[in-house]
Amino acid sequence: MPSLPVLSQNQSAPEEEGSAQPRKRHLLDTSDEALAEWLAERGYPAFRAKQIRRWLYTGRADSFDTMSDLPAKLRLELAEAFDVFNASEAHVSTSRDGTEKILVRLIDGGEVECVLLRDGDRRSICVSSQVGCAMGCVFCASGLDGVDRNLTRGEILEQMLRLQHRLPESERLSHIVMMGMGEPLANLPGVLAALDVARNPEGLGISPRRITISTVGLPPAIEKLAAGGVPYNLAVSLHAPNDELRSELVPVNKKIGIEPVLTAADRYFASSGRRLTFEYVLLGGINDSEACAHELTRLLRGRSVMMNVIPYNPVEGLPYVTPNKESIARFRQILETAGVNVMFRQRKGDEIDAACGQLRRHRGKQKAS
Ligand code: SF4
Repeated sequence: MPSLPVLSQNQSAPEEEGSAQPRKRHLLDTSDEALAEWLAERGYPAFRAKQIRRWLYTGRADSFDTMSDLPAKLRLELAEAFDVFNASEAHVSTSRDGTEKILVRLIDGGEVECVLLRDGDRRSICVSSQVGCAMGCVFCASGLDGVDRNLTRGEILEQMLRLQHRLPESERLSHIVMMGMGEPLANLPGVLAALDVARNPEGLGISPRRITISTVGLPPAIEKLAAGGVPYNLAVSLHAPNDELRSELVPVNKKIGIEPVLTAADRYFASSGRRLTFEYVLLGGINDSEACAHELTRLLRGRSVMMNVIPYNPVEGLPYVTPNKESIARFRQILETAGVNVMFRQRKGDEIDAACGQLRRHRGKQKAS
């Protein structure tokens, strides 16, 4: 059985070196029970926790000052003990199509990216789950320096709330995709804890059917996700139709292999009833040939899937290129002729380093030069 890569699963943000002051707790990392206990110890009734939650998730509060129906003394006590947000926005970029990308600097100096995409009525967000990534996909900026650590529940939620705060009052988040930096299934406890809040009607109130977890395919973690019984959408990044090519592009495949990934995905489909999505980043001259398209149709035969094909977004310093229009059209035609449900995703936010990990690298280089 392939071992899950990387870190201990409940790893939290490390302490800052040399900080004399005890650090405040991150409110978004504090469970409802822990908050209720904290309030009870100070003689406050349990309903105060509900008020605080409402301010956080629907009132869009980013400080205790704005929680106007809490007693002033409680607001002071909360501000002494907790941070509502404990990261900062190192950089924000907006593209012409309205896509906004935030480079979030975490409390220990690590950086992750998250994105708000506007598409018709949809307000989708793409959120990171780890600082860096251990999967090492050769075409991806996020994995170039490996993985530093898992994000905590609060750090994942903070990205969601920071993006929500960028919307006008009249708009709300509609979809969440765990497809930013990191492999979400390598940080399953943190990701599931954050998504529990995201789907809770007293949290962000987003149906699990509008939440997608994107993975390179870690079978044991897919099994755990299925056992959890919450019907999230699962998007499996294939990127190649055979083990030889996939192991080159997605090195973790050497330890796993395509077949076990597909078997785990099939079981997830059987238990959740949610249609599977497969992702395929189309790299010019690498995995965009007619032979690859035909092999892919054979691999997917008999499966009810949506195939998302994403023409590659070039990353500075990497040798991969966007496929030309002809090969994109040919690839599409072969899949469609074979009856595969296929969607070619538009690249949004091209001019703001929209591919995950790019903004972090770009900014890192600018700081270094
Ligand atoms: S594509 Fe996703 S899984 Fe692969 S290295 Fe990048 S962040 Fe990790």
